[in-house]
Amino acid sequence: MSIALRVPSYIRAISPYVPGKPITELARQMGIAVEKIVKLASNENPRGMSPKARKAVEAALAGAERYPDQFDLIAALAERHGVAAEQVVLGNGSNDVLDMAARVFLAPGRSAVFSQHAFAVYPLATMSAGAECIVAPARHYGHDPAAMFAAIRPDTHLVWIANPNNPTGNFLPQAELRAFIEKIPPHVAVVLDEAYTEYLAPVDRADTVAWIGDIPNLIVTRTFSKIYGLAGLRVGYGVARAEVADLLNRVRQPFNVNNLALAGALAALDDHVFVADSFDLNRRGMEQIVAGLKRLGLDHIPSHGNFVTIAVADGAAVNHKLLQQGVIVRPIGGYGLPNHLRVTIGLEAENLRFLEALDKALRA
Ligand SMILES: *Cc1c(COP(=O)(O)O)cnc(C)c1O
Repeated sequence: MSIALRVPSYIRAISPYVPGKPITELARQMGIAVEKIVKLASNENPRGMSPKARKAVEAALAGAERYPDQFDLIAALAERHGVAAEQVVLGNGSNDVLDMAARVFLAPGRSAVFSQHAFAVYPLATMSAGAECIVAPARHYGHDPAAMFAAIRPDTHLVWIANPNNPTGNFLPQAELRAFIEKIPPHVAVVLDEAYTEYLAPVDRADTVAWIGDIPNLIVTRTFSKIYGLAGLRVGYGVARAEVADLLNRVRQPFNVNNLALAGALAALDDHVFVADSFDLNRRGMEQIVAGLKRLGLDHIPSHGNFVTIAVADGAAVNHKLLQQGVIVRPIGGYGLPNHLRVTIGLEAENLRFLEALDKALRA
């Protein structure tokens, strides 16, 4: 009998993650030159990485024969957030931290709650740990705290929250979010995934890491993949109470973040100009795309991230017509949104290419 037939049923039930189509793949499939392709599918920073981070990565190549030391990046993050180093857990991308949380708090016979249209990694991590997914209905495509609270069962040990959410871009105001998290029973871990927090308007920001002081079951995750422009290096982190961080570290692979990623993240963290410029570019690009959508008569879900989700009649059909024109966006039928497409805010010229291609796709 094949080994594949003997794996736990919860592993067989997992639908693999579907990433944004790589530029090279579309080039092969459609015979389009790589330089002619615009990829706005994975919420990457269109400006590339910070020049300071690039320099640091190049310098770190010199020590590639040595195992990595996480000390400096952890110390810098602890200082940035005003917490002890023991409270910071590094991940190979923040997805890695999400996976650690699932393995620590979930198991067969347990359940996790998340919202309809929430990030695809929550069901993946939950199911990998053998736990059951409880999906709470969304409110205007975003998290509905009342529905999520009502979904919590006695066997629930983890609640996943993305704020802002991906793929919808919804944002739960911080006061409402905090009131919700405070109500969650203290034996239930709460993972607050803030991958897009740097894109929030200043008035919407809050020091959520400080909430850990009053809410001991809270884990806040952040990433270097989005505004910091290091998606390909894979580095993110979680902040929690020291006793929680200690548990996460028990399931963490010892050298989960490589030398280049550690050096790049450390330099990126201090490149405030790069972050501020990326923020401004995103704000202008969002205005450009939203204005373009209005001209095309298309609705969108108001977004607080570096992407926007657009209502089209048939997501798969419009996506195909965009691909034929060398424009890659993200179909999100897998998120229960078959009539929407998610587009990442790009450079001005990329946004223009997208809007022109979309116009054509809708007429064709
Ligand atoms: C992009 C994203 C992340 C970041 O993943 P990394 O593993 O850090 O690259 C986390 N959560 C959400 C909701 C995201 O969209």
